[in-house]
Amino acid sequence: MRNKRIITLVLCALMSASIVGCGSKNTAGKSGIPDGTYTGEGNGKGGKIVVELTMKDEKIEDIKVKEHGETPGYADALDKMSAEMVAKNTIEVDMVSGATLSSTGILEAVKDAFSKTGVSADKLVAQEGQAEDEVREAEYSADVIVLGGGGAGLTAAIEAAQNGASVILVEKMPMVGGNTLISGGEMAAPSNWLQGEEAIEDSKDQFYEDILKGGDNENNPELVRVLADNATEDAEWLRDEVGVTFEDYMLFFGGHSVKRSLVPKDASGVELIEKLSAKAEELGVITHLNTAATELVQEDGKVVAIKADYKGEEIKYNATNGVIVATGGFGSNLEMRVKHNPDMNEKILSTNSVGSTGDGIVMAEALGADIVDMEYIQTYPTCDPETGTLLYVGDVRLEGRSILVNKEGKRFVEELERRDVISKAVVEQTDSVSYMFWDESAMEASKVNVKHKKEYDQLIAEKKLVKANTIEEAAEFFGIDAEELKNTVAKYNEYAQNGKDLEFNKRGELVPFAEGPYYIMKSKPAIHHTMGGIKINTNAEVVDKNGEVIKGLYAAGEVTGDIHGTNRLGSDAIADITVFGRIAGRNAATVK
Ligand code: ADP
Repeated sequence: MRNKRIITLVLCALMSASIVGCGSKNTAGKSGIPDGTYTGEGNGKGGKIVVELTMKDEKIEDIKVKEHGETPGYADALDKMSAEMVAKNTIEVDMVSGATLSSTGILEAVKDAFSKTGVSADKLVAQEGQAEDEVREAEYSADVIVLGGGGAGLTAAIEAAQNGASVILVEKMPMVGGNTLISGGEMAAPSNWLQGEEAIEDSKDQFYEDILKGGDNENNPELVRVLADNATEDAEWLRDEVGVTFEDYMLFFGGHSVKRSLVPKDASGVELIEKLSAKAEELGVITHLNTAATELVQEDGKVVAIKADYKGEEIKYNATNGVIVATGGFGSNLEMRVKHNPDMNEKILSTNSVGSTGDGIVMAEALGADIVDMEYIQTYPTCDPETGTLLYVGDVRLEGRSILVNKEGKRFVEELERRDVISKAVVEQTDSVSYMFWDESAMEASKVNVKHKKEYDQLIAEKKLVKANTIEEAAEFFGIDAEELKNTVAKYNEYAQNGKDLEFNKRGELVPFAEGPYYIMKSKPAIHHTMGGIKINTNAEVVDKNGEVIKGLYAAGEVTGDIHGTNRLGSDAIADITVFGRIAGRNAATVK
């Protein structure tokens, strides 16, 4: 196997002593930029970014990121861009694709810091140099090639490596993670280790029935059976073998019949991706970032290689055993969305990573793979009304402790209904938004202001969330009918006291609202998950339109169709990527 990764660090430009040797065109001493350390601020995806810029001999000597709220992955963009600014002695560097908000934030912060030198930034004399570059060979080979480094791809890579295969994973973005990284990472697991403590009765069969019902029975029952039967064992695998830390509480996701969803540390996909990446690395999986798979290569009916693009260069990856497609969904591909479901047009915001462009579906379709359920596109009901970012403060709903009202102050849907049902109901309300209402005791029980502090503070600052002492005050902040909201709360409390919601039959335990302060959060639906994609069998092998297996080709995760039917239930995606990622990895590694 030829898989040596050559990383060339072009350090010379970083070291002022060797600048002449690197062909620098800098002429020091003429621009009048004073030496010193300057602080600047910008706004990234996760809020404030603070940098410290050090100027010496008219050159950018160092940029330190002192404060930021970017999630891992996006945070890499800050390091990458500041290293490049130092190397090239300029602020005008390219943004990191897929991390636009983080890139804009660091640019803004460095510009702000530089402005404090009192000299215009165009006085900086750019020099040739590169912070870091990776030299690639034209061809690589491994037993298994995995396309996409989200949850499914990393899981498949780990399982393949654990079964003795050499593995190369190619990821088109500058970081691994995909939609999994930006998700809450919760995982449905029937009869799991926490349910006993709350005396919740559950079973694989009950989970199976919930998935089918949630997907309007459009799901492939054989695949659902595999998912339901393996989810809990695979959650234990994540915990025990991969080292994922789970919280000691669960969430009640909409459409499930019982509370069964495990929550990773900090209720964030970051925990999953960090632990999966570390495990993959430990097992010797080679990851090539910035590498977009473009074509599956078939010889004598078997997929034997892929072609990929690395910064404009074509690279071939040969797969002795097989290729696993784990490139995620197509929520960020507007054209593809509208082609299959005209309602999912440019007016609908998206929670998705920019990498979710359906590439794997296109590549597999070119080989004759059966592509199914493409019209089923799910929106998440409670997202930022301006950016479409999924709002985790809204998890108070999944604890059963909030209600959704409209501008008229009335409830309009069961708060633990399926995502598609709630989203549809929200769109029909005034301004197509909903207002989530809860009280202080729900806040204390859910702790969403602590668990998601950054988001909480940001929402308050952006006036999308209000905390007020009285219901009237909270309602007036958003122009909601305060009298009607008070009536709604009184009615809900009556239902809670009698143990039955007479209007919407809300599932789970009903807890009445008590003393203030009260909270209201404004939100709207945004595209979240694409249910359609590549058809697979229970071995995660890709099948063609005649139902025949395409040899050497496997798929797992959001890129596949047929599993969730019309609608995926919350927290079933992590179960899906883990179960089918493992199956794909194992089978690709051990195929004869
Ligand atoms: P899943 O949950 O199924 O793992 P994710 O969205 O988490 O899906 O991960 C899919 C990953 O695949 C993302 O990191 C995305 O950037 C990557 N990806 C998408 N298209 C390509 C491609 N053509 N080549 C390599 N990686 C890709």
